[in-house]
Amino acid sequence: MHDALAFVLVGHVDHGKSTLIGRLLYDTDSLAEGKIEEIRRTCEDLGREMEFGFLMDHLEEERSQGITIDTAQTFFKTGRRRYVIIDAPGHQEFVQNMITGTSQAEAAVLVVDAREGVREQTRRHACILSMLGLRQVIAVVNKMDLVNYAPYRFREVQQDLLACLSSMGIQPHCTIPISARNGENVACETTSMPWYEGPTVLDALDSLTMQGSANDAPLRFAVQDVYRVKGKRILVGRVASGKIRQGDELIFLPQDTRTKVQSIEILWQDRAEAEAGECIGITVADLLCIQRGAVACSIAKLPSVTFTLCANVFWMSREPFRHGDSLTLRIATQETLVSIRIVKKMDSSTLEPIVDNLDQVRQTEVAEMVIETQQPVVVESFNDVPELGRFVLVRHLDVVAGGIVTQIGNVTEAHH
Ligand code: GDP
Repeated sequence: MHDALAFVLVGHVDHGKSTLIGRLLYDTDSLAEGKIEEIRRTCEDLGREMEFGFLMDHLEEERSQGITIDTAQTFFKTGRRRYVIIDAPGHQEFVQNMITGTSQAEAAVLVVDAREGVREQTRRHACILSMLGLRQVIAVVNKMDLVNYAPYRFREVQQDLLACLSSMGIQPHCTIPISARNGENVACETTSMPWYEGPTVLDALDSLTMQGSANDAPLRFAVQDVYRVKGKRILVGRVASGKIRQGDELIFLPQDTRTKVQSIEILWQDRAEAEAGECIGITVADLLCIQRGAVACSIAKLPSVTFTLCANVFWMSREPFRHGDSLTLRIATQETLVSIRIVKKMDSSTLEPIVDNLDQVRQTEVAEMVIETQQPVVVESFNDVPELGRFVLVRHLDVVAGGIVTQIGNVTEAHH
């Protein structure tokens, strides 16, 4: 999805995420005709006031019945561009999706209830945004209608929120007082808060910058499998970034062997080139011993090949990590056994460092780790080529943790 900006909506439960999504879709005319009427009627039948949150429940139900094709993503557009909202029902799913690459948000909207202010999940989500390197954040203080649109309450919450975010290295683009339910400062300005002069949520989204297309990055093609067809060896996989053309010179890492692209095919059709996101098969000029896990790169700019990396790791399994556990690291199509040392860890909600049990990591904890790999791995900074900068850890076939590479090589010793 290159032409749409993907953002995630996060915030404490009940602070108004679904309502805001419903509002955004409604105000941008993105709902199928009759949908809103249908929900209005359902609400009337139930003797309830129309709620935009129901819209999301309704869409959810359709999804689970397979009526709409797209699963966890919702689209809308403004005069400027298209958007994809990535729904993050819980922080666990969000982290998992971001790290496994199911969804790749470039920005986040953080929702806080004006009455309740910053809560546990607000902090936890902010911590995750920070760990994932998501720096484009729009903060909204929702339900302003329930605090009589009082500017002092807005400023109070804003102050707390800014303190919380800045402790994690995030400076939001703006903080917007809204009422998602009434559609105030979402797509349209409102007369209820004349003291606020900043942008609406849609204006703020339109002012974000989109990351450069993955096509402009250097070529990275992780080999998923090797097929033998009629005497030819076809290397198949997905282009993680950059472009690949017939005749291009490539270097396969970590083997460090060079060759040229002889042919490219997509679904058995010959192609002269392919770009980021496409699943392809290629043949190369030389008979090389290339296997699953190899990464083909353009010679112009090479990633690192290392046995040691530092990473931020989110433990996702109910079963904690214990020192000495046998874990497998998976980055793109690479797999290798690893040994792990915990440098420090913290609670993902309070951000308090946890100093006891340093040989364990539990479900709600985030750890900074030094990972030693048995085989050399091809890695890159998460912000340059996400596919080579994020990984999962696997224990007995279960994905137990996800992480992002923060440093290549062991540089933590210098700091600690
Ligand atoms: P989520 O759990 O973050 O998705 O929260 P929901 O969108 O489901 O909202 C939780 C409750 O807050 C629902 O009853 C909404 O109707 C209500 N709510 C959400 N936004 C507003 C708002 O701007 N004003 C008021 N008064 N209620 C709201």
